[in-house]
Amino acid sequence: MHTFQFVRPPDSAAAVATAAQAKTAQQGADARFIAGGTTLLDLMKLNVETPARVIDINRLPLGKIEATPEGGLAIGATVRNSDLAHHPTVERDYAVLSQALLSGASAQLRNMATTAGNLLQRTRCMYFRDTAMPCNKREPGTGCPAITGSNRMLAVLGTSDQCIATNPSDMCVAMAALEATIHVQGPKGTRAIPFGDFHLLPGSTPNRETVLEPGDLITHVTLPPPVAGNKQVYLKLRDRASYEFALASAAVVLTVAGGKVTRARIALGGVGTKPWRSPEAEAALVGQAANEANFRKAAEAAMRSAKPQSENGFKIELAKRCLAHALQTAATS
Ligand SMILES: Cc1cc2nc3c(=O)[nH]c(=O)nc-3n(C[C@H](O)[C@H](O)[C@H](O)COP(=O)(O)OP(=O)(O)OC[C@H]3O[C@@H](n4cnc5c(N)ncnc54)[C@H](O)[C@@H]3O)c2cc1C
Ligand code: SF4
Repeated sequence: MHTFQFVRPPDSAAAVATAAQAKTAQQGADARFIAGGTTLLDLMKLNVETPARVIDINRLPLGKIEATPEGGLAIGATVRNSDLAHHPTVERDYAVLSQALLSGASAQLRNMATTAGNLLQRTRCMYFRDTAMPCNKREPGTGCPAITGSNRMLAVLGTSDQCIATNPSDMCVAMAALEATIHVQGPKGTRAIPFGDFHLLPGSTPNRETVLEPGDLITHVTLPPPVAGNKQVYLKLRDRASYEFALASAAVVLTVAGGKVTRARIALGGVGTKPWRSPEAEAALVGQAANEANFRKAAEAAMRSAKPQSENGFKIELAKRCLAHALQTAATS
């Protein structure tokens, strides 16, 4: 592993000021915050990340889960995934988030992994993690061997001719469906970013994954107040029952009244280059009878723009079945 300076700032302002000296907050950043370290240290050991400075944020006061004045929930950046999943308010009002968190990684990893770190976890594309291979995300302009190579786990939605990597997070899929907001403290002050605007599509700059700029510290994430009477489900399909990333997953927040869907928030995982909210599936459902035929129609709508690669065409039907089953489970729960 390369050498680096380990910095422990006394407060958030000092952390932001140190990180603001970096040239980028994207791939190749020369300063990185460290939280649980379960993504960053992995990538440093592989020489995929080589920051000159690593800024420890674990002692900053960012570890609380609190009610917001509006009746929602504020989740600190360093709240551990396991603490969030088992928080009584999350279990009661945001069950889809609890289920998504508990479906990810292993108990040991969830005890270390944090809210902000999970938002910024990197793709598991094997070429990205192997510095002997070209990769447009790691080294812009070198090419994308996954397009003609091993792409079974990669994306079918939101891809470009530069990158087809999947966003691997489970937590993010639930947060997309819950319409979370990400709060950032940066060199120019604080700002709030709607969840759907936070991650970027790869386009011609797959090295740029989020809207974060140098110095930007995620301080917390807020969830809006829960919607009365809604049903929530996270369903994850994968190659083995635990310790595995999604082939396809669905987060569903559904309200049904008088046999009809009155409100739907839907996001997919394992199939998109970013956590994939589906306004198409939501529009296909609202006002319709809550039945299996309409759930299948919504799933068809969600995957209409999917583009298969050589090894991952199976994901399109898998994601449809995953979403239709999650909707049925929510509606009958
Ligand atoms: C073997 C294995 C299996 C896994 N399986 C799954 C799975 O099934 N599902 C799933 O969703 N995830 C899975 N993960 C990923 C895991 O959830 C993430 O590694 C974890 O959430 C990252 O959180 P962290 O706190 O450890 O991040 P770190 O490694 O500390 O940081 C990750 C990135 O976020 C940045 N960062 C951290 N905090 C902040 C902040 N406050 N502001 C700005 N930048 C910040 C860091 O600079 C770094 O770039 C797995 C990981 C491993 C190693
Ligand atoms: S899919 Fe993206 S991350 Fe994977 S090799 Fe291609 S450019 Fe790199």
